[in-house]
Amino acid sequence: MKFSEMRYERPDYEKVKAEYTRLLDRLEKAASREEFRDIFFKINSLKGHIETMSTLCFVRHSIDTRDAFYDAEQEYWDEYRPMYAVFDNRLSSICVGCPFREELYAFIPKTYFLMAEYSLKVFSEELIPLFQQENRLVTEYSNLKASAQIEFEGKTYNLASIAPLAEDTDRATRKGAMDAKLAFYAEHEADFDRIYDSLVRIRDEEARKLGFSGYTQMSYYRMFRFGYDRDMVSKYRSIILEKITPLARRLVEEQARRLGTETVGYFDSAMEFPDGNPKPQGTMEQQVRNARKMYHEMSRQTGEFIDMMVENELWDLESKDGKQMGGYCTSIPDYGMPFIFANSNGTSGDVDTLTHEAGHAFQYYTSSKRIPVSDCQWPTMESAEIASMSMEFNAWPWMEGFFGDKADRYRYTHLAGAVKFLPYGVLVDHFQHEVYDHPNWTPSQRKECWRELEKMYQPYKDYTGAPILEKGCWWYQQGHIFENPFYYIDYTLAQVCALQFWARNQAKDEKAWNDYMILCSLGGTKTFIDLVKSCSLKVPFEDGCLDSVTERIEEFFDSVDDRTI
Ligand code: ZN
Repeated sequence: MKFSEMRYERPDYEKVKAEYTRLLDRLEKAASREEFRDIFFKINSLKGHIETMSTLCFVRHSIDTRDAFYDAEQEYWDEYRPMYAVFDNRLSSICVGCPFREELYAFIPKTYFLMAEYSLKVFSEELIPLFQQENRLVTEYSNLKASAQIEFEGKTYNLASIAPLAEDTDRATRKGAMDAKLAFYAEHEADFDRIYDSLVRIRDEEARKLGFSGYTQMSYYRMFRFGYDRDMVSKYRSIILEKITPLARRLVEEQARRLGTETVGYFDSAMEFPDGNPKPQGTMEQQVRNARKMYHEMSRQTGEFIDMMVENELWDLESKDGKQMGGYCTSIPDYGMPFIFANSNGTSGDVDTLTHEAGHAFQYYTSSKRIPVSDCQWPTMESAEIASMSMEFNAWPWMEGFFGDKADRYRYTHLAGAVKFLPYGVLVDHFQHEVYDHPNWTPSQRKECWRELEKMYQPYKDYTGAPILEKGCWWYQQGHIFENPFYYIDYTLAQVCALQFWARNQAKDEKAWNDYMILCSLGGTKTFIDLVKSCSLKVPFEDGCLDSVTERIEEFFDSVDDRTI
């Protein structure tokens, strides 16, 4: 069914409440695993339908925020979603307490019960006022960033519209634009400090009220970190520091040589080639045609997937007035279909949408066909990103179709970006551990900590001429630190796995595609560690997990002549 034909109707809360409660009462008293299973799946459909309505509204509202109907419906969901969540919470509690839980694993994946257990540990109705305060502060942070009016060379920009100037071929323009942007952060330093300080204190209070030693411990439950703990994560960060930071340093030095500068200045980082970063050719429509050809050539499954996406119009890619910023991939449970939302802008990011977001969509399309429990169709965050980041690498052989004779330049930039991202990603994670371990730190202590860690993980950063960065304020820009605490190491864990798929593709390992298919079809039925093992990848926490990958990355950069691509 085409996305535009999917019918939206606001659920009648009182009716849903009566039905959900009746089913939960029966589930609680279920006397056999068969009875439990049958009622559980009735609830699964009911939940899926509510989710479908909420998603249809969310997507249509984000495509056109000026549409009065969906604007009003969005308000309904903002108000009612927590009320529906109360039933989900009771469902978790019944499932966790079920006396024949292990007998149910044949129908309901074990990960479902693990997630239910963890969800219960981090929720208490008593905490709702604190959660509400936290939400208000997060909204204040995003409103503050959205309010930016940056004057530069006679024009007014916001934080999104000034971003492309970081790739301007004129160095003075890059510096001027970056300084203008940083002036906004410097001007609002006290606001960012106050918002973050309050967030840290509120989150610490939530954790202590639930009986945790602090917010870090609570977050390992919030983020569904199954089978690994903070010590393993800390060891993993030191592997990145030891193996990847030197590699990133080498790439930054080569970047400086290409740019003809002594160092890569704070305004040069996004600029890989002095005559410009690779840009996709043609219109978005042509790129969609390219993507369709690529997925047909990649495999039978991806061919069927892309036809399904096109036929059912399951994306909205063009940037237009009234549309929200950013990009995402979501799912519509009643139809078992994914949906991709993007804002194309003529940069290589447009191709990333057709590989990264399509990788998410392909994973959902594959897993939802065989997993009936909707909560287990998507895996946890760190696992979900493996499917998307690996698809970016799976698409490498087709990049000529998107970038013409600049395809090698794209591949170089893509891989260099992946390598340089890893030290930054673990820095963000390390910083958050320190912050929540020391909830009484002053804002200056936090900034000192950030700068110190930055010098450790990214010693090649040159902040000469940018006092606000020297002071340790780079992270004001990193929304996750404010909005989604501790959600960041996930991207790096996934990248380490995706790089393993990349290395296997480079080595023409014929089993690599099959393992990628296993990853997608398992969805959320396994924990991160088990999932990684199931597709013959090394677990990022193990010693030597990166050895074969770093060797091949070095080989790649040794063999490319970056002067001619
Ligand atoms: Zn993603």
